[in-house]
Amino acid sequence: MKPGPRLANVSGRATLLWDEGCRDVATLSKGRFGPNPQDLFENWEEFLAWAGDIEPVYTPLPDERLFGPPTPRPGQVFAIGLNYRNHASEAGYDTKALPQVFTKFPSSLTGPYAEVQVLSPRLDWEIELVVVMAKSARRVKEDDAWSYTAGLMVGQDLSARDVQLAGSSPQWSLGKSFEGFAPVGPYITLTADCANRDDLVLDCELNGVCVQRARSSEMIWSVPELISRLSSVCELRPGDLIFTGTPAGVGNRMQPPRYLTPGDRVVSSIGGLGSMVTEFVAPKNGGDRDVPEW
Ligand code: ZN
Repeated sequence: MKPGPRLANVSGRATLLWDEGCRDVATLSKGRFGPNPQDLFENWEEFLAWAGDIEPVYTPLPDERLFGPPTPRPGQVFAIGLNYRNHASEAGYDTKALPQVFTKFPSSLTGPYAEVQVLSPRLDWEIELVVVMAKSARRVKEDDAWSYTAGLMVGQDLSARDVQLAGSSPQWSLGKSFEGFAPVGPYITLTADCANRDDLVLDCELNGVCVQRARSSEMIWSVPELISRLSSVCELRPGDLIFTGTPAGVGNRMQPPRYLTPGDRVVSSIGGLGSMVTEFVAPKNGGDRDVPEW
C-alpha cells in the first residue's frame, strides 16, 4: 500500500505533505476538513478516508519558519518520566521504579523549527517519541492500542531543572511547561505508515554533537502499554498527545552539567518521522529570565 500523506501545520492551517509538495486541507476539501489542524481529529476516520484518495502535486515546499505544532491545541498532553532504564539510572532513580506520569500544559507547545527563549539557568533537552491519539480511549487493551492512534511525531520535553526539582514535592509539570518548552513535529506520520513503529531510532544532537541515541524498543512501558495504563484511569481523547519519555544523555547528568544557553542549536530526529531544529535565544524581555527564582 502506498504511504498516505503526512500531516503538518503550515501557517496555522492543516496541510497534507509529501516529499513532492503540499496541499491545503480546507481548500482541497472545500471546507469539509480544517483549516484548524486540531479539528481533523474530530472526524478522524472520515478525514483519513478522504486524505487517502488525494494525489500529491508538485509544489514548492513551505518555508520551515511557517511550520507550527501539528496539534496546536490538544485537550490533554500526557508525559512519561523515567521510561528508559539508562535514563532512570543516570537520573539517580531505582530502575525498577514505575515510570512517572505528568503533564506538559498545552500552552507550552511550539513548532518544529522554533526559537525557544532560555527562560531558566538550568534548561535541559529530552528527545521523545510523541504519540497522537485519534479516538476516544477508555480501558483499552494493549493489543488494540495502536488502533486508537493517529500517528507519531518527534518531540522535545524541554525542562527547567531548577523549577522541576524545586520543593519537597517536585514540580515536574510546571518545570516542563514554560513558553515553547514542547516543540513537536515536523509533521504527523500516520500510524499505518510508521514502519518499525515499536523500534524507532531516536537521535538528539546539540551543536552537531550526538548527545542522546536510543531505540524506542528500549522503553520500559511500550506505546501500547502506555495507552492501556493511561486509559485505565483517564479518557484519552482525539488529538491528545503522549510524550513517551527520554533516554539517557540529558545535560543535567553530564559531568559537569551542561545546560542550554542562547546560541545553542538542538536537532531532534527519529528514524522515519523526520527532524526538528530548535534554536535557543536570550529571553525577549532582557535579563536572565522574567520569572521568580525557584
Ligand atoms: Zn521527558
